[in-house]
This record gives sequence, structure tokens and C-alpha cells, in this order.
Amino acid sequence: MASIRVENVEKTFGRFKALNGVSLEVRDQEFVVLLGPSGCGKTTLLRIIAGLEQADKGRVWIGDRDVTLLPPRARRIAMVFQNYAVFPHLTVYENIAFGLRMQKVSPEKLKANVERAAALMHIENLLGRYPAQLSGGQRQRVAVARALAVEPEVLLMDEPLSNLDALLRLEMRAELKRLLAESRTTTLYVTHDQVEAMSLADRIAVMNAGAIVQYDTPMRVYQEPASVFVGGFIGSPPMNFLRLRVEGQRVRLGSLDLEPPAEVGAEVLLGVRPEDLEVYPAEQPQSFAAQVLVVEPLGPHLLLTLNFAGQAFKATVPPDFPAAAGQTLWLRPQPSRLRWLEPGSGRAFA
Ligand code: ATP
Repeated sequence: MASIRVENVEKTFGRFKALNGVSLEVRDQEFVVLLGPSGCGKTTLLRIIAGLEQADKGRVWIGDRDVTLLPPRARRIAMVFQNYAVFPHLTVYENIAFGLRMQKVSPEKLKANVERAAALMHIENLLGRYPAQLSGGQRQRVAVARALAVEPEVLLMDEPLSNLDALLRLEMRAELKRLLAESRTTTLYVTHDQVEAMSLADRIAVMNAGAIVQYDTPMRVYQEPASVFVGGFIGSPPMNFLRLRVEGQRVRLGSLDLEPPAEVGAEVLLGVRPEDLEVYPAEQPQSFAAQVLVVEPLGPHLLLTLNFAGQAFKATVPPDFPAAAGQTLWLRPQPSRLRWLEPGSGRAFA
């Protein structure tokens, strides 16, 4: 097992800067998710770590080995791709054995490793089948078993669930979490699905435009986003941001008198998640009034879109809450969940 360390990696395609000085450390046995919108550079970073792409600048370490200039096969890395290509003409056994045959390991080791990887993925009973005789989820497990069979020091996964239908994807997410926890392999996992990232990761590295913009545990990233981008990208619906005037180092929001951090300017953004707003049908102390624009029944709760001083924001209430468009409601944010951000840069105050 080993850690992954990426130092100051840059990559340009033509004139397009895909990676802009990225540094990242994944600890031994840690499961880290690279999360970001399409085109932010996740796959490029993964391919550089795997050695499938060369960085223009920067270094990559696996454990204490500087692998920056090593070819892929010398890096002791296994990769599982989006389409988790399994070979259709080979049995499950031979699919899992593929990398080991390339490495020319002894027949005893080959058999032992295939059986161990198959057991880890709970597919021991499928070893004689061909991929066409498997479900999507089973094929997925074959692909992961093949990657683990070579005993990689680190496992890289690029959207391995994205080709599965929604229900199977949900099932495989929990499965994968359990199976990879058993294997204890250091893993870097790429997705643009924030729920997948929250569910799987020990830590999430949020990427935007070729840079890592926050690197923290899922709960910290969710509750204490470093910027408007992170708060807006993670969470569905996203975090609300209300633009408010600062007067004499205070911010008034209805009957709420709030104290923003000392360094704010004339205006500040107040970030609050929809579920962190308590909603009342009548006026309350320490609350602000807003008008209901839209009510959406979503099953476990109602999603309200409200208007405060020309700014739309969202709140959730229980399904039996009496809410109708046009109505005025009073909202009280949970003080510990408020986030102050700078309107210009979008960055959160510490
Ligand atoms: P997605 O979630 O859509 O896969 P991503 O975050 O993985 O996106 P990358 O595949 O790393 O993004 O691509 C980052 C940017 O670099 C994109 O704008 C892409 O078009 C560009 N890019 C990637 N590979 C090449 C290449 N070989 N030549 C030119 N541009 C490239």
C-alpha cells in the first residue's frame, strides 16, 4: 500500500490550461474523490498520476517513489475506467487474470490472486462465465477484481458507475464502498456526481477550472464550503446566497441583527443551506419575512422557492406544511450554519 502525492502539476493542451498547479496528497489506504464539473481537469489529473499523460510541470509520487518519469506499467497502479471494458471473449477468470499474465507471475500466484480478488468482489461463483452472461453490476465487479488482482499500490477509478442505470448505480455505490473498505487499497476516484462523492469519500477534492478549490471531509465541504462555487456545486438544491448590505459592521435581515466577520466591505454574501432555515407561517422573533414563489412537493419534503428583497432562495419544509404561492412566511436561520462570503471573489471568510 502507498500514498499518492501530486506536487504543482500543470498541463496545457494547445493554449488551454487543463491543470493549473495542482497539489494533492492521498494518504495510505485513504479513499479520496476528485469532484468537479465536466471539463475541470479530473480525468487529466488521473491520467497523469497513472502515467498515461505527461505533465508539463510538477511531480508525482507513489509512496516514497518519484514516478514522474516512469511508464504506466512501472508505477504499480491499477485503473478502472468509465466503460470498465471487460474482454468479451474471455471468461471472468481470464479477465481477472489478464494483468497477472502480462506480469508473468507464477501459476500458483496467478490462481491465488484471481481467487482472492474474486472473493473480495463476491464473484467466486461466476468465474466460468463470459461477460455477456453477467449483469451490469457483475461486470463492474469483474473490472474492479481485475484491477485489484495485480495488487496495485494505488487504485485509480474514473467514473466507474456512470454507465449503470440509476437504480443499479445506487446499489453499486453502497457495494463498492463496502468492497473497497475491505480491500483497504489507497484509492483516487473521479466523479462529477456530488452525492456519489459524499457517499464514498474519506475526503473530497473539489476541482474547478484546473485547480483544487477545497480539500476536506464530505461534511466539512458540505457545511463549510470554501466558496460560492463549492456551496453551489455540492448539495441539491445548492446553498443559498443572499447579498446583504453591511452598516456599521452589522447586517440586518428582518429582525435579525447579525455580525459579519470584521474584514467585510459594504456588502456581504450570507450562505445558508435550504434545510438550515426554520420556516414559520407567522412572525417570529429573530426572523425575516419572504414571499413564496413556488411550492414543489418532492415526497419527503416540500421545496419552497421564496423571494427576499428581489432575491430568490430555497427552503425545505415537511410535506404537510401549509404553504402556497403568494403567501408570506418567516424564516429563521440556524446561527451555527451561517457562512459569510466575499461577493467579489466568492470566497468564504475564515
Ligand atoms: P469530464 O467530467 O467531462 O470527463 P474532466 O473534469 O475529467 O471532465 P478532463 O477530461 O480532464 O476533464 O479535461 C479537461 C479539459 O482539457 C477539457 O476542457 C478537455 O476538453 C481538455 N482536454 C483533455 N484532453 C485533451 C486533449 N488530449 N487534447 C486537447 N484538450 C484536451
